[in-house]
Amino acid sequence: MLDIKITKTTAPKAKPTDESKLGFGKIFSDHMFVMEYDKGQGWHDPRIEPYHPFELSPASSVLHYAQEVFEGMKAYRSADGKILMFRPDCNAKRFNDSCDRLCIPTIPEEDFIQACKTLVELEKDWVPYAKDTSLYIRPFVFAADDGLGVHAAHHYIFCIIVAPSGAYYAEGLAPVRIYVEDEYIRTAPGLTGFAKCGGNYAASIKSGELAQQLGYSQVLWLDGIEHKYVEEVGAMNIFFKIDGKIYTAACTGTVLPGVTRRSVIELCKDMGYEVIEGKIAVEDIGKAGEEGRLEEVFGTGTAAVISPVKELRYKGKDLKIGDGSIGELSQKLYDTLTDIQWGRTPDTKGWVVTVCEA
Ligand SMILES: *Cc1c(COP(=O)(O)O)cnc(C)c1O
Repeated sequence: MLDIKITKTTAPKAKPTDESKLGFGKIFSDHMFVMEYDKGQGWHDPRIEPYHPFELSPASSVLHYAQEVFEGMKAYRSADGKILMFRPDCNAKRFNDSCDRLCIPTIPEEDFIQACKTLVELEKDWVPYAKDTSLYIRPFVFAADDGLGVHAAHHYIFCIIVAPSGAYYAEGLAPVRIYVEDEYIRTAPGLTGFAKCGGNYAASIKSGELAQQLGYSQVLWLDGIEHKYVEEVGAMNIFFKIDGKIYTAACTGTVLPGVTRRSVIELCKDMGYEVIEGKIAVEDIGKAGEEGRLEEVFGTGTAAVISPVKELRYKGKDLKIGDGSIGELSQKLYDTLTDIQWGRTPDTKGWVVTVCEA
């Protein structure tokens, strides 16, 4: 149990009034959680302070060597007046798996969850009210040694900030076009693909920008060795429905193990679908598409929940999926999952955690 010292702001900000213009991660609340680590001392001084910039040495290790890890989750305002979180235990565990890979000291899962819940409860008035809006929670940790030596740092800062965020889809689920990247790679076996670390994103921005210039919203990554098997999309896992069966890449080290991904797999199995986690060749997807057997493609992630895909571009050819509208399963998964997350349906899975009364 952390002994969290709370210092409240004396200058609270005005909360956004137009919740249709929140966007994502642009506005932050009044407070932040901070905790520090020093070698020999462990994690210390857990506290909530007024939201403020960090003062860092220009030689801080994270700025040079990117020893950093983050998480992404949401707090939801339920119709019956509660603030909810979705499977925070999964994020706490994944955070530590990421930390372990980046040589960052781990944080006990119960402390990670306590820190998130305490901050969210303090900021509960920042959880927006409009349909499909939420308070995005961004925990992160970074190396803050003052010096340029390359080694695991001795000093770390763990921080949580929260951002009221808008409905991802303003007008219903909008299918997207995806660019299959066959030149650059995101990761490879032995690298950091399974870790949620900033470095993975740094390496992927160039492809994302190129795809956007061509009119595609995100990149679909292929495996780093043969450039043959589909892995995941930008910040989402990806699923294919072929001949009534559901396929997604296995989490064997190169794919980020999404919380939405594992929830969707469970829901699909509940609905009676066969779910195959394995190696899926991009050529086989193209073939299934040409033969009319590719029924649906969708991404999964905390931000969008479900993101239907209407088109894949691979080696100069556009593969259209269905008639370009949202697949039946995509819509059903979106409805089922968001009903659970926003507390509109009883949680028979034990996935929802109540933070506080709203
Ligand atoms: C966060 C993330 C996902 C989705 O994970 P969720 O836990 O479902 O939000 C997928 N891929 C990458 C690369 C990510 O960073």
